[in-house]
Amino acid sequence: MGRLAGAASACSCLSVGSSGDGTNIAELVRKLWFWMVCADPALARGAVEDMLPSPSPALALRAVPSAGDDSDARSLDLARQREGTADKLWQGQAEWRVISTAQAGAWCPPSPTGFVIRDTLTARMHPRRACAALVAALEVMGVDVVNDGGNKGQVVHATGLAGLQELNDAYGKTVGNGVKGQAALLRFDAGEVPQLFADAIHIVPHADGTLAIGSTSEREYDDPISTDGALDDVIDRATRALPLLHGAEVMERWAGVRPRSKSRAPMLGAHPLHQGQFIANGGFKIGFGMAPKIAEVMAELMLEGRGAIPDDFQPGASL
Ligand SMILES: Cc1cc2nc3c(=O)[nH]c(=O)nc-3n(C[C@H](O)[C@H](O)[C@H](O)COP(=O)(O)OP(=O)(O)OC[C@H]3O[C@@H](n4cnc5c(N)ncnc54)[C@H](O)[C@@H]3O)c2cc1C
Repeated sequence: MGRLAGAASACSCLSVGSSGDGTNIAELVRKLWFWMVCADPALARGAVEDMLPSPSPALALRAVPSAGDDSDARSLDLARQREGTADKLWQGQAEWRVISTAQAGAWCPPSPTGFVIRDTLTARMHPRRACAALVAALEVMGVDVVNDGGNKGQVVHATGLAGLQELNDAYGKTVGNGVKGQAALLRFDAGEVPQLFADAIHIVPHADGTLAIGSTSEREYDDPISTDGALDDVIDRATRALPLLHGAEVMERWAGVRPRSKSRAPMLGAHPLHQGQFIANGGFKIGFGMAPKIAEVMAELMLEGRGAIPDDFQPGASL
């Protein structure tokens, strides 16, 4: 997201309507897609893949964990208890169900317990195309997206790892750090199927005949954007879990750094160092999915002075 100066325009564009009390990523992304499609239908169609009414594989299947002993029964119990928790927290907008591997069908992660969790909160996007569509939509609305907007007007520092390092330096302790992730894109047309979580690897079929696999989680690294043998291991594990991926062409290997705050939650609110300015950082592993909601609460705070940000998400939780 970078540092957005001129928050009035930046935030109004991202504030795509209220999500209600519950945070429902699929619904937020649907709104974002709707908003982008108005600006550039062709670009948006390629960017956000699962927001079309049907068929919708915007769901995920993950194995009920197995330790290969009698703790499997406890694991299954826990997964089933969470059906009720999800019903309560997700307010009917999405569901979490334990189903048998037989019910799941052929496209299913291996699960020694014989059961998998199927959730419909999951949605999938093509991040780069989504960002391109967002920029196009902003341009249609008359907003210039520039690399350095200068330090004027309403400023929110959404500067990822650089912003966390600035806080580390100022406070003389670790407020946040970067966690590198390596991922790969395979040429593999899986069709209209759910994304899978197998052996701690996400396997995400895209609508364009490609399939993403990721990712590593590295606290120690020299180069934030290089890939190495750790990614080969991720690809191997994905292929072992889903043998039909064997031999698929690896089209692209890439890496990035996830900004992780000490509390592991997003840091949203008044900037602890820059008076009168704001911070949106620490998205860690959910920063992309949460972006529309983050934009919404930041716009409310910056433009209307309303603070609907939970304490756990305030910068102070990591200082
Ligand atoms: C392999 C991998 C897989 C992931 N998968 C998912 C996923 O499935 N779902 C999900 O929700 N999230 C996922 N994430 C995490 C997600 O990418 C991050 O949470 C998100 O990118 C954080 O966004 P951000 O804008 O806060 O920070 P960043 O993406 O780090 O962006 C910060 C930007 O600010 C720029 N910048 C720094 N200083 C300045 C300055 N002074 N002026 C202007 N610009 C500046 C930087 O160059 C950078 O471009 C994944 C991450 C990785 C690496």
